[in-house]
Amino acid sequence: MKGAFQIAKIAGIPVKLHWSFVLMLVWVTIEGRRNGMNWESVGWFAVLMVGVFTCVILHEFGHAFSAKRYGVRTKDIILSPLGGVARLDGLPEKPIDESVVAFAGPLVNIFLAVIFGGYGWMTSSIDFSNLGTSRLVFGNPENFVTLFLLINIFLALFNLIPAFPMDGGRIFRSLLSPSLGRRRATLVTTYLGQGMAILLVILAYLFVPPRMTFYLIPLFLLSSVFMFFMATQEYRMVKFEEILKKHSISELIRQPINVLQKNDHIAHAIDILKRGLERDFLVKNEDGTIAGVFSQPEILEVAKSIPTDSHEDHGVEEFISLVKDVAHPNDSLHVFYKKLVHQELRILPVFENENLVGVVDIQQLNDFLRVEYEMK
Ligand SMILES: [Zn+2]
Repeated sequence: MKGAFQIAKIAGIPVKLHWSFVLMLVWVTIEGRRNGMNWESVGWFAVLMVGVFTCVILHEFGHAFSAKRYGVRTKDIILSPLGGVARLDGLPEKPIDESVVAFAGPLVNIFLAVIFGGYGWMTSSIDFSNLGTSRLVFGNPENFVTLFLLINIFLALFNLIPAFPMDGGRIFRSLLSPSLGRRRATLVTTYLGQGMAILLVILAYLFVPPRMTFYLIPLFLLSSVFMFFMATQEYRMVKFEEILKKHSISELIRQPINVLQKNDHIAHAIDILKRGLERDFLVKNEDGTIAGVFSQPEILEVAKSIPTDSHEDHGVEEFISLVKDVAHPNDSLHVFYKKLVHQELRILPVFENENLVGVVDIQQLNDFLRVEYEMK
């Protein structure tokens, strides 16, 4: 995601914050002051918000750690004011395992709710009576146990709503799949998600008090557009996946138009790129074996990072990516796609019985999907 910067790395997973988060702290300050909070209360309000998003991060780690059990890596966890996402490298093969991964997030919040509830009960610090009386409750740490109890209950319940893009949507789909089939189960859950998104706008219109419309309405609109889009995306993904599983690499193998030698200059790669002759390159050793691959985004990155007049001083060898897992003609396109994602590459050499028979790149995969998708 553009505009997200890393704030921590936990268990090898980068945790990133979207820049718009800063807007939220500004909002907390303005809103707090408008409601007559002193600076100390505003500080506590900010602590509360950070606490809320810590609960969201823990929720995402629930997904990440359970996915790891099924051998699925988490690329990163991104936090935006609209919520968190753990970007997984794929999904577990069995639908039941997918629901376990989906449920692990809300389970973390249930667990946290039990902890806050238990602690509050033992210390008698839970008090629902002053909530809702004034917005100043958010700046008073005495209310935090009660607030965190409620927030975690809300996070658990909200995420268990059986519609995409919520975790509950994933669980619901795996329950429907045996009787409806995966594609129709996804379609139902997608419609529910789109319905939820529209409902959210109606609810916002009906229930947001007039003095809060100024910032809450845009927030609701943004969330529902996001939800609608994510729900729709889910159905497309399943259709794509079906197409990818039905076809094999042999349908896409091509001969590379341009191959780089590992001691070619960067200037040479840029030149080919400019002419549009190739976007993703195989790079060969002097003896003709594969040294690695070099793709458009990395080439552009390198082109920007070193001055133009020294493009001839650097060989491509310095910047290429190694290929650990090559493709085979009988692989399904789904397997091919997973190999690409897993290695963070955009092109793979195809080998048949130890012989290089061609390449397939991500651009071809995209074109193939576009055509097949349109024809359905
Ligand atoms: Zn979740």
